[in-house]
Amino acid sequence: MSAIGNSAASRDKAFILHPYTNLHAHETQGPLIIERGEGVRVFDDSGKAYIEGMASLWCVSLGWGEERLVQAAAKQMRTLSSYHIFGHKSHEPGIDLAEKLIELAPVPMSKVFFANSGSEANDTAVKLIWYYNNALGRPEKKKILARVRGYHGVTVATASLTGLPNNHRDFDLPIARISHADCPHHYRNAQPGESEEAFATRLADQLEAQILAEGPETVAAMFCEPVMGAGGVVVPPATYYEKIQAVLKKYDVLLVADEVICGFGRTGHFWGSQTMGMQPDILTCAKQLSSGYLPISAVMVSDAIYRACVDESKKIGTFGHGYTYSAHPVAAAVALETLAIYEERGVLNHVRDVAPLFQRRLRALADHPLVGEARGVGLIGALELVADKTSKTPFDPVGRAGAVVNGLTQDNGLIVRAMGDSIALCPPLVIGEADLNELFDRLTTALDAAI
Ligand code: PLP
Repeated sequence: MSAIGNSAASRDKAFILHPYTNLHAHETQGPLIIERGEGVRVFDDSGKAYIEGMASLWCVSLGWGEERLVQAAAKQMRTLSSYHIFGHKSHEPGIDLAEKLIELAPVPMSKVFFANSGSEANDTAVKLIWYYNNALGRPEKKKILARVRGYHGVTVATASLTGLPNNHRDFDLPIARISHADCPHHYRNAQPGESEEAFATRLADQLEAQILAEGPETVAAMFCEPVMGAGGVVVPPATYYEKIQAVLKKYDVLLVADEVICGFGRTGHFWGSQTMGMQPDILTCAKQLSSGYLPISAVMVSDAIYRACVDESKKIGTFGHGYTYSAHPVAAAVALETLAIYEERGVLNHVRDVAPLFQRRLRALADHPLVGEARGVGLIGALELVADKTSKTPFDPVGRAGAVVNGLTQDNGLIVRAMGDSIALCPPLVIGEADLNELFDRLTTALDAAI
């Protein structure tokens, strides 16, 4: 046996550079090894069960062990295990999935481009926007707006769109041409006494001022998650999108809906755009597209954007963008089966049935001494921990909320996710009432222990 030791934990520390992890702390703390999953629970290597209150990373909508997805993957593996759609090649799973997504789109969309992750989908959207504006003969219209606390991925361009300090700091980001508008979080960012409506109006006015300062002829698009996820589950005020869309339209700025978390029923409508009243020109989605079983993402574009890209390609030849695994046939087959299950089992109706219980139990925790705000919509939500409810003083400037959450809830057999001082919840869409109650009972026990 080597000096490293044979346990999974010691080999993890020896060989893995962990994504999104405090690398220094990991050297002493080590991993929690998850061995298997069943329904809404995962089990560690000691056999301990956890309710997965985050559906892994906002994605395993159908829970673990869905045999139909296993069968769909196995069948496609046997028929055509891998192929590409570059040039003029194609295959049925990719074609069927594109057709289905166009049918499901919240606004008329023309074409689907496939990628493997949310980051790649958003990165593709950035490139399409630049290509589109070159096609229209306005090479100066290239700047892209996103929002403080928005999350759009980790590639060079999408980490730049992401409005979180750790995604920029020491990575030399953001890149030029990308800047951030204010975060529509009323609890944190409203002025004293400002109503949600007045706050939304102020943010729209600020957005207009920002576009005017940049020069409207230079601003191409704005990326928005309908409900912000990784920035702490921020549900904007009811009239926010109506107001900011009026500004974007006025200056011919495209709206990109990043539905990577919200898509496929999470917020109580099939798309977050429908819940929030958005009419995007481009829509990106991933995660619940395949219930997280295989990596696949999609970018849907309006006909105007597609036509301009065709014209540009006519001029310069090949549209020079695509991933080896764009529309990977096995991932596409699993995504198609996922969409079929959503329909056949009425998963969206199920979300609507259980969301009131989820939101009731979540909001009841607003009375807890540590909770400043309980917020959410559909089956997504967050608790923001504070040291003092009246002054809204953050729970801990060095992120003790994370330690509280990861330690205490894990001890209690529950996995949630800490983001700054907020605790996110995003359980599998198929979770039942009994498991939801158990989830909140465990969370309450963990919070009580943290007082
Ligand atoms: N966009 C949103 C809204 C996300 O939540 C995420 C990931 O959590 C991404 C994009 C990036 O997706 P990925 O991690 O698959 O690259």
